[in-house]
Amino acid sequence: MKITSIKSHVLKYELDKELGYSQQYYKHRATHLVEVQTDEGISGWGECFGPGNIALANKFIVEKVIQPLIVGENPMNKEFIWQKVYNLLRDSGQKGMPIQALSGVDIALWDILGKKTNMPLYQLIGGKCNNQIPVYGYGMMLQNKSVNELIELFKEEAKQIKSKNFKAMKMKVGLGPKDDLKLVQAVREEIGIDFKLMVDANHAYNLNDALYVGRGLDELDIFWFEEPVAPEDYEGYKELKHKINTNIAGGEAEFTKYGWNELIKNKCIDIAQPEVCGLGGITEYLKISALAQANFIPVINHVWGSAVSIAVNLHLLTAQPDMPGGLFPSKAMLEFDTTEKNIFITDLPTEDFSILDQVKQNDGLAAVTDNAGIGVTPNNDFIKEFEINE
Ligand SMILES: [Mg+2]
Repeated sequence: MKITSIKSHVLKYELDKELGYSQQYYKHRATHLVEVQTDEGISGWGECFGPGNIALANKFIVEKVIQPLIVGENPMNKEFIWQKVYNLLRDSGQKGMPIQALSGVDIALWDILGKKTNMPLYQLIGGKCNNQIPVYGYGMMLQNKSVNELIELFKEEAKQIKSKNFKAMKMKVGLGPKDDLKLVQAVREEIGIDFKLMVDANHAYNLNDALYVGRGLDELDIFWFEEPVAPEDYEGYKELKHKINTNIAGGEAEFTKYGWNELIKNKCIDIAQPEVCGLGGITEYLKISALAQANFIPVINHVWGSAVSIAVNLHLLTAQPDMPGGLFPSKAMLEFDTTEKNIFITDLPTEDFSILDQVKQNDGLAAVTDNAGIGVTPNNDFIKEFEINE
């Protein structure tokens, strides 16, 4: 079996309203799918993390840099292909876009292996450790409004997420330490003290501000405080983790086993959030997951993107053992976008794929299908409708 071509598809559409996180507001949703074709007629699908124009740059890396390196290789030699590409790109990108680009290609190779062997992805990576995965709803994105207006919007959105049967939810912060705590307190009061609530800062703070917010979160029984400081600030993470009781979560902007080794070795985080579509793909995710297990750090994947990314993550979590185990172990969760209708989740797959329906009907839980590979095939007509090339 040989790889014959690699195609990238960047899809984009305009949102009805602007959404944001601590770094920017945005009006468009983009996603980057990778399609690896073989001489046996089997195609694999993957996805690269990286929004907007970054997706276009990554498309160029996939098609113009990675494709020529691996056309003609046997797609089942995933480890060899990963090392070959990483080694040849090492001098130009040990983190960031080259690794995001490699991630989508690697995921597609696993999809090919699944289709070739007629096995679902979770089976290829160790089998079922969980029949169902709890799903948490992320929403409550920032909007360009006053803090009082945002408080009302967030309270309403929190109510909506709860009504969809999610058993945990995550909100954004990033307005500044004092306003952020007002926002979290309002949501906490709205949903009640027993509901699992997580707070995501997208590295908005310096260490002192993060300590201030973290101490406030300690009083509000927050399950985790996500990306409080810059991903490069290992010392800041370490000090926060030492001084704050709330779980410190992070890692969505960390790359490869080398970066993750630093994050873990420096005792930066209580909860690891690897982003499989960014850190180097499934081949690298499995190594990072092992590294986290060896250090007794729970893994709760970061999930962003289309149905392809969600399906891959559902397989990864299905195959993930409890750490450390027991009668009532703490379980990983699947992150799921509850913001304004995301058609890259609902309308992209040719298969019936509705996480929202599962959550609604199944007490906040979702399960993988036994379809071969990642189990989701993007619809070609849908791709044609939303694909952009510049
Ligand atoms: Mg985040």
